Amino acid sequence: MYTEECRRTGRRLNAEGLVSGNFGNMSVRADDGYYITATGAFLDEPGELVFVPDDGDVPAAASSEYRVHREIYRLTRHRAIVHAHPPHAIALSYAASSLVPEDSEGILFCPEIPVVEGDPGTEELAARVADGVAHAPAVIARGHGTFAAAETLVHAYLLTSVVEHACRIFWLRRASTPSLQKDKVG
Ligand SMILES: [Zn+2]
Repeated sequence: MYTEECRRTGRRLNAEGLVSGNFGNMSVRADDGYYITATGAFLDEPGELVFVPDDGDVPAAASSEYRVHREIYRLTRHRAIVHAHPPHAIALSYAASSLVPEDSEGILFCPEIPVVEGDPGTEELAARVADGVAHAPAVIARGHGTFAAAETLVHAYLLTSVVEHACRIFWLRRASTPSLQKDKVG
């Protein structure tokens, strides 16, 4: 289920350099659980998704980041999640507690992008990311990557792309404008 939609999304993420290697994951909400990419899956060839029930054991094949997905679905009405490792967003996350985009799409779709803490795969990361996407369309986990939540996978992918684009513009603008280089990031 949802394999073709995931593959299309994975190809877009790869093509834009929003993920590298077999990192990143994505999921889609179902009535009594959610479907998530398998641990170690390449997102452009995801294979069968793994069903994780709301109640019951988590299959060993599920992505190691299933806790974040579970907590987002528990706390919000989002129906799809994309987790990626976009390099400009990750680089910026070290210096910021949140990012306010300066480009037109960023301002429109992600007016503020929170940066949260938490080690990969932990309940702490799950709680902070879920709280973040309850108030903003996407968040950046410091030194790690983005989590975008939306109604559909395509929309969650687009938000991921918007975040990385906003971070790229942020860097490029400072690199080309000396007077901005001492600006506080956030
Ligand atoms: Zn990750």
